[in-house]
Amino acid sequence: MNPPRDEVLVIGGGVIGLATALALIEAGRGVRVVDAGKPGSGASHGNCGTITPSHAPPLAAPGMVALGLRWMFTPDAPLYLKPRLDPGLWRWLAHFAARCNAADWRRSTQSRSILLNDSRQRLADWVARFGLQCEFAEQGLDYVFRQQANFDHYARQAGQLREFGIGSEVLDGADYLRDEPALKPGVVGAVRFAGDARLRPDRYVAELARVVRERGGVVEEGCRVDSLQEHGGGVEAATDRGPRHAREAVVALGAWTPGLARGLGLRLPIQPGKGYSITYSRPSIVPSRPLVLKDRSVCVTVWDSGFRLGSTMEFSGYDQAMNATRLGALERAASEYLHEPFGAQVQERWHGWRPMTWDDLPVLGRSPRHRHVWLAAGHGMLGVSMSAASGQLMADLMTGRSPALDPAPYRMERFA
Ligand SMILES: Cc1cc2nc3c(=O)[nH]c(=O)nc-3n(C[C@H](O)[C@H](O)[C@H](O)COP(=O)(O)OP(=O)(O)OC[C@H]3O[C@@H](n4cnc5c(N)ncnc54)[C@H](O)[C@@H]3O)c2cc1C
Repeated sequence: MNPPRDEVLVIGGGVIGLATALALIEAGRGVRVVDAGKPGSGASHGNCGTITPSHAPPLAAPGMVALGLRWMFTPDAPLYLKPRLDPGLWRWLAHFAARCNAADWRRSTQSRSILLNDSRQRLADWVARFGLQCEFAEQGLDYVFRQQANFDHYARQAGQLREFGIGSEVLDGADYLRDEPALKPGVVGAVRFAGDARLRPDRYVAELARVVRERGGVVEEGCRVDSLQEHGGGVEAATDRGPRHAREAVVALGAWTPGLARGLGLRLPIQPGKGYSITYSRPSIVPSRPLVLKDRSVCVTVWDSGFRLGSTMEFSGYDQAMNATRLGALERAASEYLHEPFGAQVQERWHGWRPMTWDDLPVLGRSPRHRHVWLAAGHGMLGVSMSAASGQLMADLMTGRSPALDPAPYRMERFA
């Protein structure tokens, strides 16, 4: 007897897989999501939970190669590359370096801002429509500076973002400190992005899974997919719990996507970009909105339920180690800026792998080599921010609806 057959099998229950599942269910499709662990236990768990059209500029920017080389010799720098013999990583870096120019920066900023702006609005709609209890708040976000040269650079860049639909306000240091008693003296200025927002990412993912289940979808935990192939007018996934059949599959495995894709004959340039966070109980004096401590590239997010410091980008493969120097860098940065840099109790020390493509754009669309296989991966530093738009775009493409966004910039064919 054939095992049950689903309409769509979503492989990977992170924020991208679950957002895709929800949008597909809303479009009338039957969906099963399978995850090797608990849904939301990958990068979607301990990230900073900021929803940031402000972050539209990609990592590959003019000057980044020189900065990256300097940082290679600084163990607690925001970006770190562990030198190792890995041809895939060096190929990725070569493409990344080639994109560190003004024209490619603009192109990526444009395509990222379209996805981010759509997602920001859609997310607010989803929170209201599905009653997602995830500490979502539309407070904006501030970049805060203690170094004048950095402040001047980002104040100029913030102005450039207006043409991409991203508004900001540049604030003088003294004015800022008057309104933000949580910060120590020495802030020279800030850039406020009033359109940004925040949520608690573990709750958001849990809520997406709840709504998917309530609307008839299946979310299966502890089901690892080892391979996927097209089979009999659909797909067959080999899992550690036996085969799963469906008419179509969406591969949404975040940083793990290249492994499964390789078995399908696809070479996806996604590198794991490791980041860390520490979650504490809430200190008594906290900033009134999320902050990026920009000179140190550390993010501070405050919820009713806790307080998180997060950041750092480490290209060290799928290395599980918790690097104490890099975790310490989060606390050192917070101590420089905040009167109360952390809460009394540490609730969690965490690391996760961001799925990084060299152009900082996700891969969304049909596999170039398959009729029944779709890809939704490579969201880098912004998977939560881009989740609702990515899920909707996937559902639109898969159901043949005309999509709200032009899907061309996100196709895998761009890597050919
Ligand atoms: C420190 C840090 C801070 C960040 N801050 C932000 C932020 O403020 N805002 C923002 O928008 N983004 C942020 N990000 C990025 C964001 O976390 C990611 O872009 C996003 O979580 C990626 O989601 P995903 O669903 O693609 O991947 P994941 O969440 O990693 O999901 C992949 C899933 O696949 C499952 N899986 C793996 N292998 C298999 C298999 N063989 N079979 C079945 N299942 C499998 C895993 O268990 C996992 O649940 C941050 C990331 C980090 C590390």
